[in-house]
Amino acid sequence: MLRKFTLSICLLTALALNAFAQQQDFSKVEIKTTKVAGNVYMLEGSGGNIGVSVGNDGVLIVDDQFAPLAEKIRAALEKLTQLRLRFVLNTHHHGDHTGGNEVFGETATIVAHSNVRKRLAANEKLRRMALPVITFDQTLSVHFNGEEIQAIHYPNGHTDGDGIIWFKNSNVVHLGDHMMTGVFPFIDSTSGGSLDGWIKNIGAIIERLPADIKIIPGHGRVASLDDLKQLHKAVVDSTAFVRKQLAEGKDTAAIKAIGLPAEFKSWGSGFISSDVWVETVARATKK
Ligand SMILES: [Zn+2]
Ligand SMILES: [Zn+2]
Repeated sequence: MLRKFTLSICLLTALALNAFAQQQDFSKVEIKTTKVAGNVYMLEGSGGNIGVSVGNDGVLIVDDQFAPLAEKIRAALEKLTQLRLRFVLNTHHHGDHTGGNEVFGETATIVAHSNVRKRLAANEKLRRMALPVITFDQTLSVHFNGEEIQAIHYPNGHTDGDGIIWFKNSNVVHLGDHMMTGVFPFIDSTSGGSLDGWIKNIGAIIERLPADIKIIPGHGRVASLDDLKQLHKAVVDSTAFVRKQLAEGKDTAAIKAIGLPAEFKSWGSGFISSDVWVETVARATKK
């Protein structure tokens, strides 16, 4: 239920998200802190997972959920260190990952891909404080807490502004919404996302990362590279299945009626149900 709830947030437009954020009772949300590895922790509350680097230089966070949770997030960070929050890195523009920007941006420096800034800036209701101050197009490194924290852009996957954030010494990576552990990905085609782009990106990410790296996904539990490989395989194979049916002349409704083969059933869960996945593949195939 909680997963269904958090996944559905990604779909909403910025406006709807604001209305949603006003409706949700954030007073009931608790922030859970988990140590991942090295300097890196993960915070879970409502919205995307937050990655945290803690050390002698202070605090850097990856994504920041919703503005009404900012004080709770700050309290959770203060349990880890008294040093101040200096950087916020956004994995992409969706409101469940950038909502806290308008609070944290008052004192910390926000960093993101240039398309994240572009998309956030298009929302006139957003305070200017929420916009990234430093943008990048390909890669950018923050040298902080004794390690290189590298942001690497992967084009047109979940959106057109996704960056993965790699904590080199801690051996941890935050993949943003390119990964939601154990379920098919959400492809936001209205924000430049692409299924074939996602497949290509994740294939390249698997090649690039060390085998023993720990992965913070956009949503869901901490994952391994094997988890990511399994997700990639499920997406590649189920996409091939749907495309074969389409090539044989079946329409989306007919494919949904047949259903995905049993091996893919567990991947269609919560918001991205098997039916939504079939529609995602069909839409990406017609173009
Ligand atoms: Zn997202
Ligand atoms: Zn998300």
